[in-house]
This record gives sequence, structure tokens and C-alpha cells, in this order.
Amino acid sequence: MRDIENILKTRIQNDKANTFAIIVPTDSARLKRQRELVGYHPNRAVADLRVYTLGSLIQRLYDQVRPSRQYISQGLQNLWLHEIVDPQSDNSDTYRYEAFRPSQDLSVPDSTLSLVVDTINHLRERGETALNIVADNPTKVDLVHIYENYEAKLADQWIDEQGKHLHLANNFNSEFMRNAFPQVNLVVVEGFTVLSKADIKILTGIAGMPNIEMWFRTDYVEGNENLYRNIADLVRQFEAVGVNIDADYEREPELHQHFAKNLFRAEAEEVNLNHDPETAVQIKVLKPADRSEEVEQIAHLIQKHVSDDNCKLKDICVAYYNIGQYQQRIAETFPAYGIPYSLVEIAPLTRSEVVKAIFSRLSSRQVPLEGDYFSDVEPALHTRLFHPDAFQRYVDDLLKKGRVIQHILNPMLRKNREVVEGEIEAYRQFNRIVKELCSVLKSDGVESCSLDDYIEKLHHIAKHTNYQNRPATKAETVRIVQLGELRSLEFDVVFLGDFVEGRFPANYQPDPLLPEIPYRNEEEQLHDSRFMFYRVLKSFRKVLYLLTPKRERAADLIPSPFLGQLKALADVQEIEIADPTQGSTSGFLSTYSNHVWTSPVPSNESFPAEIAEMRPLINHVVKVEKSRENTHDHLDYEGVLTIETLSAVNRRRLESRREHIYSVTELEIYARCPFQYFINNVLKFRVKEDETEDELSGLEKGSLLHDVLFEFYNNRRNQKRLPIGQCNEEAFKEAKAQLNELLDSNAEKKRNRRKEKLIGENNLFWETDIEKLRIALHKWLAAERTYGLPVTPRYFEVSFGQERELRYPELSCREPITIGDVRMTGKIDRIDIGNGTFNIVDYKTGSSTVRMPEILSGRSLQLPIYLQTAKKLLEMHGGIGLEPAAGLYYKVRLDQFNAELGIGTESQNGDAYSGYNGTDWRPVSSRNGQLLADETFDARLARVSGYVQHYVDSISKGTFPLITRVETFVDSEEEGDTPITPKNKTEPCNYCSYKRVCRVGAISEVTQSDD
Ligand code: SF4
Repeated sequence: MRDIENILKTRIQNDKANTFAIIVPTDSARLKRQRELVGYHPNRAVADLRVYTLGSLIQRLYDQVRPSRQYISQGLQNLWLHEIVDPQSDNSDTYRYEAFRPSQDLSVPDSTLSLVVDTINHLRERGETALNIVADNPTKVDLVHIYENYEAKLADQWIDEQGKHLHLANNFNSEFMRNAFPQVNLVVVEGFTVLSKADIKILTGIAGMPNIEMWFRTDYVEGNENLYRNIADLVRQFEAVGVNIDADYEREPELHQHFAKNLFRAEAEEVNLNHDPETAVQIKVLKPADRSEEVEQIAHLIQKHVSDDNCKLKDICVAYYNIGQYQQRIAETFPAYGIPYSLVEIAPLTRSEVVKAIFSRLSSRQVPLEGDYFSDVEPALHTRLFHPDAFQRYVDDLLKKGRVIQHILNPMLRKNREVVEGEIEAYRQFNRIVKELCSVLKSDGVESCSLDDYIEKLHHIAKHTNYQNRPATKAETVRIVQLGELRSLEFDVVFLGDFVEGRFPANYQPDPLLPEIPYRNEEEQLHDSRFMFYRVLKSFRKVLYLLTPKRERAADLIPSPFLGQLKALADVQEIEIADPTQGSTSGFLSTYSNHVWTSPVPSNESFPAEIAEMRPLINHVVKVEKSRENTHDHLDYEGVLTIETLSAVNRRRLESRREHIYSVTELEIYARCPFQYFINNVLKFRVKEDETEDELSGLEKGSLLHDVLFEFYNNRRNQKRLPIGQCNEEAFKEAKAQLNELLDSNAEKKRNRRKEKLIGENNLFWETDIEKLRIALHKWLAAERTYGLPVTPRYFEVSFGQERELRYPELSCREPITIGDVRMTGKIDRIDIGNGTFNIVDYKTGSSTVRMPEILSGRSLQLPIYLQTAKKLLEMHGGIGLEPAAGLYYKVRLDQFNAELGIGTESQNGDAYSGYNGTDWRPVSSRNGQLLADETFDARLARVSGYVQHYVDSISKGTFPLITRVETFVDSEEEGDTPITPKNKTEPCNYCSYKRVCRVGAISEVTQSDD
């Protein structure tokens, strides 16, 4: 076998570097390889050295394609997909992508959109079009829709990263290679463990060219498939087209052969393992109490290696499979030990301080951020319209006048070089995305956009554009890396942290959108992890430390299964750090917390002097947390008031809550968060309302709508006018005029009733709001006219359990209506009567819509309770035999009207009720989750009554836990007795005024919503 490295060396020494190209996986591998190759030349200077990442090779080849398409970056791709999924148009016929929305009126969360983008990119990488997906569920139907729209948008004009690879794979032409690299006759592909199908096709296409010789260099030992399976696949594919294989790449026969042959091999025990005493003492396992102590121990050992062994900081590396939750700990601990470190972080552009400052200065609407990045500038008004060219000039000018570059480079600020480089990189990327956006808009023929629109688009692109915020440094520091970056790097001392089950190897997560065609299947992922671990074993020259923390909060952690595999091959020494508390206060607290957690009575040993005074507080915190997590001795700290902690008076007060009259809203607060209910309704805290504005507030809008509609229908009924559906043109005009009159008079009353922020007669904001409401009400009326079902609006504002004057006495009653044993009060906006059925209608001006899971998990009670109440009220007034058909939301929002189903029976769909989408009435789609079979409908109402009883029982017993701890369930025949916990438990926290005072953020089980 020829020695390929020698061939390369000879060519360099003969000044023929332009005759070969080397392809490597990453940019750092490229730099390292360039340094090595330059070292072969006697003058240490090489012209035309061609070392590329795969991405830049592809770009060079694609540059030869004619006609070529314009490239769109990942950030712009995200913007397009965002605009496809959440179009700006008010057209209610636009496809809705319901499967990706948490509820109908909420936009698709950013994290869901990222999932969609990833899936589409994976499909494109494999060359699968939208047509290849079997759309057999709503999620896939929506995914196909998005993918088709995205492909249509790309058309023949644009191309994304995956598109370039695919295009070259499917249309490979040796001319591309010859034109891009006219002198090259040798291509060396080095160090890859994964290659996509498209990339393999391109590379094997190059290999098939008559004048080109290709080498694939990898570390591969035949016979150990358990370690090398993924690589063996690549080797086979390259071998099949005559590529030369160098299988000894980056493997030192002396040091690594033993692991290469035996690691993960089932029959390893039967092999003569030949334990090397040199190696045996070099792998050490540490078992810190938790992750904080883990970082402490690493810092302690680094200090020791530097002081005792003269080890250089740059010869030490700390590696994690996933660095995420360690970044903060390292940032707190390493400086306390005086250890400088470098951590190359890839972050979204919106995290850059410079970019934040630029966004804050782009329009006069933003509040400029304080800071050192801008001289004073005068931004334009947010509504000003710009042609894309003009916008580009505007931004260039603003940055120039603001002297941003000069501020970044200001030597007076003494920023370190890494920070400055990170800021320059962010600035450069920002300019690139402005240029890209303007060029795309121009090509799309956009003549003008408002400044606000540009800013919104740019912000979205920036959120999905990454930059290196701490570029690699040559300074003397400890390197902190993710395992993926470790590759061929070597250090004297290596620490592998978080070496526990589930973290490394990571648990396999099926592809959430297309589980049957995953990007990497479970086996491939496991083999990737195995090879990564083998790389760790190749990365140290003297000592490797494996850290397996024992606990994380209340959970026990188990060492990684890879540790057992390693122990079968090498002597692994378990060590303990003699006195880990020596280091810092946080080290002491970490050890102390482990001690109190495991021993029933905390020790009396003295605390370090600097925190001795905090001892009573620390003991109290320990007592409370231990109770919350483990012993549950002090239930009052979990929101559960027990007999022992309550005075007799307070006990009686709580117990008397069984007799209270409850509103649905009140119980829905309890359902969302019992603790919020406790503060609101038991302690009766009052939150200062937001300042009133010139516009109609949400509350004012709601009450105005209710007043107008009530008077309108009530008057027509009293005046015995025809139902709207039977009006001829003239009568309909008259009805419209009545509605206008009522809107004007009621709006005027509202305006005059304002006590603060008084509104003048011609206030523009107010007038605009009223006009929008007028348009929506006209649409409502037009919709009512075309309803066409034998159903009549019959009762309006029917109240029960309310002392004040009855607005609509015919069906209302002052007595509360009981649901189970619970006395309820409320007001039903409207009851429509049909043939043996009735519907209740709730008027809404807000955007929220209740979905079935919220009814099922007991968070939404209104429609099911009102349907049962309406039935009782109707029966009390002779309406025996009328059965509930549906609970509907009539939504008047902005200048639109829609009718949506909240809960309804399948059998009456289209006969007793319909939905209105803004243009016409249609039976509700059979895929709509709010539609239930008749038996399920009855069971669901009964289930909700059960919740009501359950909540009132819990209130009177004093149970007020935080949202994260509540299990909302009531058993029923239909649903069984499985607890149904809401999917996003902390959703109610998003709008809660007590977020800062309750401890929800401190609880580990929190699953916040994405946005
Ligand atoms: S922030 Fe969340 S947990 Fe805390 S009181 Fe509000 S809803 Fe409850």
C-alpha cells in the first residue's frame, strides 16, 4: 500500500501543492491540517494549498453551474418558512397549519418552526420531495403543505444549502471539477464519520473521473463492527467505486490499537487484552456528589496538574457531550480558582450586544440601549417606507454615523481580543443579512416596505443566524469543548464530564414529526456515540478523568454504560478528591447540600467564616427544600394548609367555602393554578391595573359588544321584528341602521364614563376602534342573514345566582344553579333554540380559543357548565326535552366575525349549528377536535362537573399548590381515572402577576412554553 501522507509531502516539497485537494469535516480540522502540510516544505511557505471543508468544496463546484440560482442562507430560509406558516394576510381562507399551533389564534411557536425547518432540511438532504411523504395524520398533512409551499417559493430562482448538494449530486458533471480545480488530480477525503447520501454521490462522482485519484482516510479496523459500523458503511461505498482506502488514519498503532480492536466488542473478554500498565494508571474515575461538585473537582485537579506537574493550561481539555447546563457552572467556578478557559460558543446573532444595540437604534420607535456601541444618531420614523436599495443605504449610513466599528475597536475600553473578535464577527454577519434581505426583496419585485417591516424580518433572520461569539484563541487557556469538536485534538490531560446514563450516550429521541424516517436511527446514533467515546480515548497523552456525578437534585444518576465496557478492557482507577471544600464557598455549599440531603440530622461542624452568619437561613432553606422534594413534613411550604398550621377561625373560614357561590372564572383560576387562586381569592391581593390608554381596552371592547348585541336582539324581540334570516333588503338595511345607532350611543356612553385618561370627541384611536367594531358587527349581521338553519336566537344575557337587577328576566334566576353540590353563578350571552335542541353562544373579542384538551384536563369549564345550566333553566321554564347540541364562540375581533365550535355533538353538526369562517357557514370539519360523539359529549359534561366538585373540595380543605404540582383529574366511565396533566403546565404563568413572587421558576419540572 502506498503511503498517501508521503505522496502529499513529496508534492509539497516539489512545489506541486496545486495538484491535490484535501477535504476535511470542520473548519478547525482545516486549520490544523494546513499547519501540518505547510510544515512539510523546507521554507514553511506553500502556495496554492487546497484544504477545504466539504461546504466550501460544494460551493466551489456549484459556482460552475449554469444557470445558477441565488443562494438563501439558513436565517432567510427560516424567515420564509415563518411567513408561510404565519402569513400576514387577514384572509381567513389562508391555510391554518392547526397541527402546529398551541391554540387556534396563537402563532406557531418558534421551537416548533425550528423542528419543521430541521425536518424539511433532513428531507432535502436525502433528496425526498413533499410528494414522498405519506400524509396520514394532520401533522404530516401540515408538514407536506409547508414543504410544498417552500419548494414553490424556491422555484428556479433560489437555492438553499441542501439544494446545492442535491443539485450537484443529481447533475454531477466532471466539467465542474475541472473548471474549479484545473490542476488537481488527487483528492483526499479525511476524517469523516458521517456523510449524507448526496455528498457521497458527489464525492464518488469525482472519484469516477478518469484523471482523478481519490483517497478516503479514516480510522477503521475490520472485525469490530460494534465500534466501526457507520464507518464500515462509508468504507464499503468508497471501495465500491475504486477509491483508495487508508484505514490507519489518526490511529497510533501502539496506543490505540487495543481499543480499536476490542472496544464494544461482545467477545472482547475472550481476546488477550494485554493490559498495558502504562495505560492502566492513566484512566481515572471520579464520583462527585452532583454537577456543581463535579466542576469544583475539575477545577481543583487542573490547579494540581499545573502546580505539581508543570502542565500547561493549553494542554488541558474539558469535554462534554452537551455543554449546555455546565456553561454557567464553569463561568462561576473556574474564575474563582483563577483558571482562564476558552469556550467557543455558537450563538444566535440576536444574543450579540452589538446587534442588540443596532436593533435598538434602527427606528425612532425603539428605545436606544445604553452602551458603548453608538454615537448619537437620528433614526427614521418606524412607518417610513423604503425601497430595498434605500433601506440598505439607510442602514449603512446609520452604522457609519453611529461610528459602530470605531466603538467596537475603541482601545480605551480595554476589551479582550476574543470579545472584540466576537463583536466584529456579529457586526459582519449583521451587514450580510441586511444585504441578503434587500437583495431578495428586490428580486421579488418589492417596491417598498415600512421600516417596521424590515426590522421585523431582520430580527427573525438574526434569530436564526449563528455566529461564533468567542472565537478560538491561541492564548494560554484550558479548552472547554463539546465532544463533536474533539475530533483529532490531543491534550496531556482530558476531563470527560457528565459521563452518566442518558447524557452520554444520549437517549435516543425519535424524530417528532416523521418518526418512521428519522434523520439518524437509534442504531446509527449509538454507533456515532461509541466512536465519539473511542475518540476521547485517543485524545489524551497522560491522564483521562471520567466524571460521573451521583445526583441531580432529587434524582440519582447512574454512570454511563460505556464505563462498564471500558473497564472490561483497561484498568480504571477510582479516585476521590481529599478535601474538595478547600476550593471555594460554592464547593463547600455543594458538599454541605449533599450531606444534609443524605443524613437525617445535619452536622454541627463549623461553617467557613465568610458564610457562618448565613447558617440559620441555610438550615431553613435546607429544611424547606427537603420537605418539598422528599419528606413532605412541612406541607404548608407546598401550598397545602393543614389542621396543625391553621387557626380554628381560618379552618372554619376555609370550610365555609363549600357553601360559597362560585363563578366559572373563579374556578378556572383554581384549575390553572391553585396558588394563584389563593392569592387572588383567599388573600384577596389586588394587582394594579395597567394604565388606561386612548384606545378601547379589552374590557371596554367586550362590554361594548355585549351591550350593543343585547339591546339589538332584545329590542327586535320586543318590537316583534322578523328574525334577521327572514329580512328582505329593506328590513335588513333598517336592522343595520339600528345596530349603528346602538353602537354609537353605547360607545358615547362608554367614552363619557371614563374616569381617567379622558377621551376627546374626535380622538382618532378611539374612532378607529369603533369603526373596526362597526365593520365586524356588519359582518356579523350579514352572516346571521345567511345562517339558513332552523335555529332562532331566543334568550340573551341569561343570568343565574346574581343578586343585581335581572337584565333578561324571562329565563334568568336570582338563585344559584347547582352543579353537583356546588352553587354556581354566571351569565350566558345567548341561547339559540332549534328543533328539540339548543346551543349556547359566548361572545368574544379576544383572540384566545379553548381547545378540547383544556376541557378534558379541567382547565376550561365555561361551555360545559353553561350547557348544563342552560338545560336546567330551560326545564324550569317549560323547555323539557330540549337537548344541548353545541357551545359556540362568536368572535368579533378587529374587523372580522367568525363562529367557532367550543364543544358539540357530531349528530347535530350542520343541522343544529354550523361554523362561520368569515365568508360562509359550513358544518364543522369532522377532523375538528371539538366535535364529539353523543355519548362522549355527555361524558365530557359530566367529567367537567366532577372537576367543579373536586376543586371546591380542595379549596375548602386548604389545598393550594403551585401549578406544577397539581394533578387535574376526575375519574369517569368514559375517560377512566387516568390523571390528565396539562401538556404545558406552566402556561398560566405567562400572564400571571405573581410570577416574581412565587417560586415556579425554581422548580425543575417546569416546562415553559416555547415562546
Ligand atoms: S406564576 Fe404560575 S405558579 Fe406562580 S402563581 Fe402564577 S400561575 Fe401560579
